Parts: sequence; C-alpha cells; structure tokens
Amino acid sequence: MFSSIRVKLTLWYTVVLTLVIVAFSALIYFSVVRVLRAETDANLSEMANNFVVAANAEQGDEETMPQPAENISEALDGFRFRDYQFVVVSYFGTVIAKTADYDVPGGAKSRDGAFIDYTFNGEQYRVFDRSFREGGQGFHLYAFYPLSDRIALESRLQTAVLVAIPIALLFAGLGGYFLVRRSLRPVQKMSEQANKITSRNLHERLPVANANDELGTLATAFNELLDRLDKSFEQQRRFMADASHELRTPLAIVRGEAEVALSKDDRSTAEYRESLNILHDESKRVTKIVEDLFTLARADAGQFHSSFAPVYLDEIGGEAVRSMRVLADQRNINLSITGATGMSFRGDESLLRRLFLNLLDNAVKYSRPGGKVSVVCLSTDANLQINITDCGIGIPPEEQGKIFERFYRVDKARGRADETATSGAGLGLSISRWIAEIHNGDVALVSSTESGSLFSVTFPR
Ligand code: ADP
Repeated sequence: MFSSIRVKLTLWYTVVLTLVIVAFSALIYFSVVRVLRAETDANLSEMANNFVVAANAEQGDEETMPQPAENISEALDGFRFRDYQFVVVSYFGTVIAKTADYDVPGGAKSRDGAFIDYTFNGEQYRVFDRSFREGGQGFHLYAFYPLSDRIALESRLQTAVLVAIPIALLFAGLGGYFLVRRSLRPVQKMSEQANKITSRNLHERLPVANANDELGTLATAFNELLDRLDKSFEQQRRFMADASHELRTPLAIVRGEAEVALSKDDRSTAEYRESLNILHDESKRVTKIVEDLFTLARADAGQFHSSFAPVYLDEIGGEAVRSMRVLADQRNINLSITGATGMSFRGDESLLRRLFLNLLDNAVKYSRPGGKVSVVCLSTDANLQINITDCGIGIPPEEQGKIFERFYRVDKARGRADETATSGAGLGLSISRWIAEIHNGDVALVSSTESGSLFSVTFPR
C-alpha cells in the first residue's frame, strides 16, 4: 500500500500541510493570547492611575486637617466597575478601603508597578500593585481583574484550533488523495494499454491525453519506442521472409537435380558428374547465403567479435585481387591493383579481406567478358581510400540508392542468367557497409553508368 505513488504523495502532502497548519495556528493562538494579556494589563494600570488621580483630587478639596484614609474611601466609593475591584492598604499593611472582600497578595511580590498572577478563593486574578502618596502617607492600591473570562476565551480558542486542525487535515488529505488519483489516472490507462501490446499488435499505441504535460511526454516517448520496435520487428520479419525465399531456390534446384539423376537406373558417368557439379555449386551457394545470414544476424545482435590489429590495407587489397584472379581469368577480365603502398591501419584483417572480396566479386561478376577491373589505393593526410572501377553493365540511377539494402538485387533475373557459385543473395554490399562502418569508414557507389561503376572504400586515418 505504501509503495503506491498515490498513497505516498497524499501522505507527503498531508505531513507538509500538517506542519504548516500547526505552525500557523500556534502563531495565531499565541499572538491572540499575548494581545489579550497586554490589553488586560494596560486596562489595569489605567484604572489604577485614574484612581490615584481621583484620590488626589479629593485631597485638593481639603480645607481642614488632611484625612487621607477618608479621602481614599470616598474616592473608592465613586469608583465602581463590574469587573475591576480595588483594595487599598496602608504602608503597614492595614486595609484602608476596598470594593470587594479580597485578600491582597502580600510579601515580597508586592512592589510598585508589579503585575501579579494571583489565586484567591479558587479564582484566578490579574493584580496590579500601584503605590501612591496621599496626605503625606504611603499607600498601595491593588487593582484586581478576574481572569475567568479570559481563560474561558483562551480555552475556547484552543478547542477550536484542536478540532479544526484534524478536520481540515482530513478534508485536505481526502481532497489530495482524489486529486492525485485523478491526475494519475492516465498512468493507469497507459499501463493497461501497454499490457495489451505484444509483438502481434505492435502497431497499437498508448493514449496521449495531453502531449504537453509530463505524462503526455512519457506516453509519447513510449510510443516512439514502440515505433522503433515495430520497425525493427518489421525488418526482422522481412529479413526472415527474404532469407527463406533466397534459400528456397538453390534447395529446389538441388532437389530437382537429384530427382532427375535418380529417376533412371543407369546413367553415364558424365551425366552423374554433371548432376553432382550442379549439386556442388548450389550447395556452395547455400553455404555462402547461410554464412552471410549468420554474419548479419550476429552483427545485428552485437555479438560479432572482431579482433582489431595493425594491418596494411594495400596488402589486404592485393591478397583479395590474387584470390579473384582465377575467376577474372576465366572471364577474360584484366584485374590490376596500383597506387599507394604501406597503408598502415588498425582493423580486423579477415573482415577487411571479406569487404574487398565482396566488391571485387561484384566488379568481376557484373563486368562484360574481356573488360577491365582496376583497384587503386590512395593515401591522403586524412583518409585511406581504395577505389574499385569496373567496365561492367552499371546500375541504373533509380536503383543506385537501394543496392546497399539487404537482399536487394538490381535485376534478379540478371544475376541468375550469369550465375556462378559465388553469386550472392543481395547481402554482399550490406555486409560490406557494416564492415566499413565498424572501422569508422564507409563504402559508397561513387558513379555508375552503362559502361562501368566506381565503388570507393574510405577509412579515416
Ligand atoms: P550480390 O551478392 O547479389 O552481388 P550485393 O549486395 O553484393 O549482392 O549487390 C547488390 C546488387 O547491386 C547486385 O545484385 C547488383 O545488381 C548490384 N551491383 C553490385 N555491384 C555491382 C557492380 N560492380 N556492377 C553492377 N551492378 C552491381
């Protein structure tokens, strides 16, 4: 339960709100109490002053002998209030006059201008002690103010605060919970929808309520992820379909050829040899396709372990040219390598050889008999480059952008007509590009016309 964001947010919110409300209420409560007390004290001292003024006035009327005690009694007679009571005592502690039957707080506490909290007969009072002189004698006036009303008011305020705070928090908590629940509802919907998405309905997307808020951004990011997944699943599906399609043809040839060879009991050795030759060529073709597929599958899965070491690109190019020479000679094609030497580079030798063999294989395969294929090595400050030019049939401009795609062959029939055991399934150039890319380089078709093509492999130094 506490792991739910809804509950967590609500709890946090309530805790913070509690702190704020408690602090705020305490502040208000204590300032009200302070103001009330200050007011009581101010009234008491004002009353006392008024009385002293009144008592002194009585004295002023005196014509004969000064009689301070009588003056005070008279003054106090005219001094009646509902809440305030007064007791006047002489300097020696004798009560001179009083408006109520109160004891006075005596002892050390008693001094001029002191406010005293005093309990008498179970009631609490605030008492102001004012000393004054009358007729040459010293007196103390004690002004009493009962605190019962103020205490009742304070405790009412206390109760109000103590009741109001939990109620306010309860409502705030509930409100907060529903608010959080409401704003998290899209998350609920999103996870329900996400749960329904499998590889079979990858085209479905999450609902985006408001693309501009945080949840909308999340849903959009998730949808974009689904787009990418969908695309790569689609690619994978096409790859499988194309792969099985490419494998079907040579396998059908193998089966057909074997059936023909077996259909009659005795055939000449020459006939058997020819059938076996075909079987041999086709199985070589299948092997090549399977190897290429395996390479691409491992490359896609990021599982291809290349081993980089110092190599010379021109030497690897030279070896590839030598391996292709037999095939080139068969087709009466002039194959040459010229240009820079000592092109030192860090790379995977067998992958680089494969890259050059793929390009040379295409150059020889698509060249007209009697043509010329030349490999030129170039070394500049920034790059190492190997250009392969052929005098072949070329690639039509509208196809040039697609030849690096997997399984793409310009004219499927064109490849077949000229079939050799090395003719691939349209995977050669995609593998070549992958090899160039893992070496931070690139392979590109620079130009292609009906009289030949130029492929260029470039690596940064
Ligand atoms: P493949 O193994 O079928 O040759 P590639 O990926 O190597 O597949 O090449 C893709 C297609 O590009 C080929 O089928 C061919 O049509 C075209 N192509 C590649 N190189 C050349 C070239 N040197 N001259 C003409 N066409 C070429």
